[in-house]
Amino acid sequence: MLFAHDTECALVAAAALVNTADPDREGLPDVAALDRFFTAHGWSGRHEHTATELRQVRALRPRLRRLWDADTDELVEIVNALLRESRALPQLIRHDDEPYHLHAVPRDAPLATRMAVEAAMAMADLVRTNELSRLRHCDHPDCDNVLVDLSKNRSRRFCDGGCGNRAAVSAYRARRAASHS
Ligand SMILES: [Zn+2]
Ligand SMILES: [Zn+2]
Repeated sequence: MLFAHDTECALVAAAALVNTADPDREGLPDVAALDRFFTAHGWSGRHEHTATELRQVRALRPRLRRLWDADTDELVEIVNALLRESRALPQLIRHDDEPYHLHAVPRDAPLATRMAVEAAMAMADLVRTNELSRLRHCDHPDCDNVLVDLSKNRSRRFCDGGCGNRAAVSAYRARRAASHS
């Protein structure tokens, strides 16, 4: 493992949340979609199932996306702002079946606040370990998704949206076309 377990989970969840903001296909169209996202990424604590909560979570996405586009100084500004606005106060806690890990806002804070703070705390880890190059954009030319490269040899190129397969199929077709010409 490269980073603490909660850091890695938070980074993966942040990338997944950013990627739901697809202009062609909204990944969080309704409260039910947010419910599925909540479960898929192992969130717990306060979850209102309301349109307001959904709106707050959606509004967080462009801000988190900036983290992938920003240089280090700007990223640090965003991270510090997110922590400050949320009045983050790191505490080690244990809940459900998880071992001790950090929460920086109470479990009854709004979901979007907790998502913002978890992402910010994980980004702080990347800054401190000089690993911001782990934040990458999908290499597929038709894809705007972001990803977190948690592989040992920094070899990850494609997002979770099936772009790796798409690229392999195109490469295969290109080779075939070349060999038949
Ligand atoms: Zn927790
Ligand atoms: Zn992709």
